[in-house]
Parts: sequence; C-alpha cells; structure tokens
Amino acid sequence: MRKSQVIVVGAGIAGLTSAAILSKQGLTVTLIESHTQSGGCAGTFKRKNYIFDVGATQVAGLEKGGIHSRIFDFLGIPSPEATILDPACIVDLNDGSKPISIWYEKSKWIAEREMQFPGSRRFWNLCTLIHQSNWIFASNNPVLPIGNFWDLSQLLKSLVPSNLLTGILLKSTIFDLLRICGLSKNERLIKFLNLQLKLYSQEDVFNTAALYGSTVLQMCQQPHGLWHLKKSMQSLSEALESSLIKTGVNIIFEQKVNSINFDDHNMCWKVFAKSKKNSFVYKGKDLIYTAPPQSLLQHLKEPLNRKKSYKNRLTNLPDPSGALVFYSALKKEHIKKISSNHYQFVSPEFGSLFVSISEDGDGRAPKGEVTLIASIFTKTKDWFSLDKENYLQRKKDFLKKISLELERQFDIASENWLHRELATPLGFEKWTNRPNGIVGGLGQNPDLFGLFGLSSRTPFQGLWLCGDSIYPGEGTAGVSQSALMVSRQILASKGINNLNL
Ligand SMILES: Cc1cc2nc3c(=O)[nH]c(=O)nc-3n(C[C@H](O)[C@H](O)[C@H](O)COP(=O)(O)OP(=O)(O)OC[C@H]3O[C@@H](n4cnc5c(N)ncnc54)[C@H](O)[C@@H]3O)c2cc1C
Repeated sequence: MRKSQVIVVGAGIAGLTSAAILSKQGLTVTLIESHTQSGGCAGTFKRKNYIFDVGATQVAGLEKGGIHSRIFDFLGIPSPEATILDPACIVDLNDGSKPISIWYEKSKWIAEREMQFPGSRRFWNLCTLIHQSNWIFASNNPVLPIGNFWDLSQLLKSLVPSNLLTGILLKSTIFDLLRICGLSKNERLIKFLNLQLKLYSQEDVFNTAALYGSTVLQMCQQPHGLWHLKKSMQSLSEALESSLIKTGVNIIFEQKVNSINFDDHNMCWKVFAKSKKNSFVYKGKDLIYTAPPQSLLQHLKEPLNRKKSYKNRLTNLPDPSGALVFYSALKKEHIKKISSNHYQFVSPEFGSLFVSISEDGDGRAPKGEVTLIASIFTKTKDWFSLDKENYLQRKKDFLKKISLELERQFDIASENWLHRELATPLGFEKWTNRPNGIVGGLGQNPDLFGLFGLSSRTPFQGLWLCGDSIYPGEGTAGVSQSALMVSRQILASKGINNLNL
C-alpha cells in the first residue's frame, strides 16, 4: 500500500495539470492512469508514418495571460511550440455563398462578419461586452459552483461591477441575445452559430447559455486565439509530464482504478487499481477524480449509497454526445488548397463535419503529406446497442459515407487516400475509459453551466472532481482552469492561500 497526500485519477490534461500544480507546491502526489500514455482525449496515436491527434486538435490559452501559459510560467517550464491559427477556421455553410473565415486579426474578423451577416453588428458587440466582463471574472480565479464559505469568498473576490450587469443574463441563451438584437429570424447567422457553438458547448443557439456562448464566440480572435501545436497534441501532455518528473510525482501507467472507498480508521481515501496482472491499493487524504463524474457510479459504490441525493444527481446527468472520428492521410497535392488548418462544413448526411488538416512538415506526416481528421457528433447508444456483426458493418458504412463527403468537399479522388480509419464511441471508451465513450463534458445550457453545474467539491470530504464536466467546461483550456480551481481548493483546505498563479 502506497501513501501520498494527494491521489489523482487520470492523466488527461486535467489530471496532469492538477498534479503538476500541487506537486510544485510541495505536496506528495500519486497520479494513476489506465493507458500506456498521458493525454486522454488530448493524446495522440501512431499509425504507419503518421501521428494522429485522438480528439483535441487545437488549443486555446497559450497566449500570454492565457490559462495554459499562466500554468507553464508557474511551473517554470516552456510552453510547447505552437503557431496561431489565422484563420482559426473556415466555415462552409454549403449554401452557395462564400465560406466564412474566422480571422484571428480582430479588424479582419469584424469586416468578414459584417460582409457575411449584414446587420449583425449589435449582436457581436453585445457578445464582446459580455465576454470582456466574463474574462476579467475568469482571470480572477472564481470558484464555481459554490460549496462552502471559502468558495463563496473566492467568487465574491472575483466579481467586478460589470458582472452584476451581465448577471441579469444568467438564465438567457444565445438565441435570447439574437432576439434582443432583432436577429431571431436570421437563418444564415443562426446556422453558422449552431455549427460553432455545438463544437464548444455541445448545445445549439437555443440552448447555449448566453454568458458561456459569448466567450467561446470570441476565443479565435486577438488577444486570445487558437493554436496549432508543432509535432502533435501530445507535446502539451509531455510538457506537463516534464514538470511532474522534476517535482517527483509518482506517475503510474497501465493501472485502471476500479474502486474507491473511504478508510474510516485512517481517515483517508483508498484507491483500488488493477494492472494486467496485479492489484494495487493507494491511500491519500485528498483524491482528485478526473474521469467523467458518471464513472463514480461504478467506482464509488459504497460511499454513494450513503449519499442518495448525490447519487441521484450523478445518475440523472444528461447524456453527453459521443464522437465519430475519421483519421486519414493523403499527399498534400491530392487535396484542394485550403487556407486554414481547420474547416467546418454543412453536410446533408451528418449535419456538419469538423476537419483538422496538419501543416506540411509539422511532424504529423512525412514531408509532402498531411493528416486529415474529421469528427462528427453521434449518439452513443446507436453504437452500443449493436451486436458485433452489425457494429462492424455500421462502422464500415460510416467510414465510406464520411470518405465520400470529404471527397466531395475537398476534391479528393477516392484512390488517393493513403490511410483511413474510424473511431466510434466504443473506441473512445476503450481509449479514455469514458463510460459509453461520452466526450466533451456536460452541455453548457443555462441549467448546467457555471453556478448551476456540478461542483468540484463533492459531499465527501477530500474527494474532488476535475475535468471537462466541471466549471468552466470542455477543452484543454477549460480543464486546466478546473485543475487550477481544484488545486486552490485543496491548498486552501490545508491553510495555503498564497498560490501565486
Ligand atoms: C473528438 C474530440 C475533439 C476535440 N477537440 C478539441 C479541440 O480541438 N480543442 C480542445 O481544447 N478540446 C477539444 N476536445 C475536448 C478535450 O479534448 C477535452 O475536453 C479534454 O482533453 C478533457 O480532458 P480531461 O483531462 O478532463 O479528460 P480526459 O482527456 O478524458 O482524461 C481522463 C484520463 O483519465 C483516465 N482514466 C479514466 N478512467 C480511469 C480509471 N478508471 N483509472 C485510471 N485512469 C482512468 C483516461 O485514460 C484519461 O487519460 C475534443 C474532444 C474530442 C473527443
């Protein structure tokens, strides 16, 4: 039995970041990961000569003052090499009009959106005002939702006067903002916003919380921006791992946590894990759990039976989406020239496809070739309810249908694919241990975001949640913010309030 002050379950970006911060502050930390490598949904895998980003392909928060950059500065390690995406994405509504380029440079984006969506200026200006207010608030490290007086004190400290004004919109949606601006019937704008919001909030304009949506709609522009990592997404995890090694975190791979219980005698958490051959037990006063909270129903059985209302809350969390991800490679000359690494287009078959294309020579494919990754949302139950034969057939059909959509959109001849494979929710479950392969956390609608979401502080003392189901939500930047929040809560519970981050 091994003992440390903090045990972290899961070495995705949330687990790596919280382990790195706490260890840097001098706490002893054990990090347990079921996979052979770190990164989770932001990891990579290798096939032939190619390196594919499993899920996340672009990173927010690497600019000065952004959450990743603040954390790297605090840890005293360099940020991974990256280039800004400009345009961050090209969105093709396939309605015969010119695709929309989401420029990094603010003035170019303002001109673009006024040309593409005449009369929408008031809406964008309103989003900007809300976002600016949100941003100051988020940078002040609020704790949300509030679980005790310390959390409340952090929330109150983070508020600025403009938050009181934008607070009126707490229960509003992006569609309410469109209505205020007289744009509720602007179908083209709504179509565009639906595509973009679904990527970042899992919801459409009618269900995305106005306060959340206003910020994600501004993330591609100065002074923020989205970044393309050199080599692969794994370099983000590798950078964090280098800090864990420096500060002596006990990193354990290939052990799957299968049960958690509280040891009343020693007043600490006991974590039971299994490798292929052996069983292990770890003990810690604090336990950070970064697998989706739905997995607690499996892992925390006995304690949950004593907290029925919390168990009900976890049982009744709305089902997040699953993803189908198509990983492919081609010669650069065999795909239409596109002036962005990211492209989103409307497809009659799938609603939309989000496509990430590597940079020639960025380390993902041999020179002259590129990797092309396309993802769509899917209902997880459509895949888990099938027997093996039907599952394999459906997978084959989707691989073919996605190939055809991409061939049509990017002028690709079908014989020019150098590699193609498809991951389904079953694959995601296997890779990340996310139950039913759910991805991206909880939908950011007015009933579930911020104040109304699931708290990092659980009803069990010393058991903390962190990751993309916790404030502020999905994305490597979002989960890093949640890792910072949970680290501050743990440090504060030990009387350490001076984290300089
Ligand atoms: C298709 C797709 C595209 C995306 N695109 C982007 C993007 O472009 N940009 C962006 O910022 N975000 C993107 N995201 C979201 C982003 O990847 C995630 O929100 C983020 O990486 C989640 O990090 P996490 O640490 O909370 O969870 P995870 O990445 O799920 O990490 C959890 C870790 O815990 C481990 N684990 C789980 N259960 C156990 C157990 N029982 N025992 C031991 N270990 C366990 C898993 O193996 C995993 O490594 C995308 C996600 C997907 C699926």
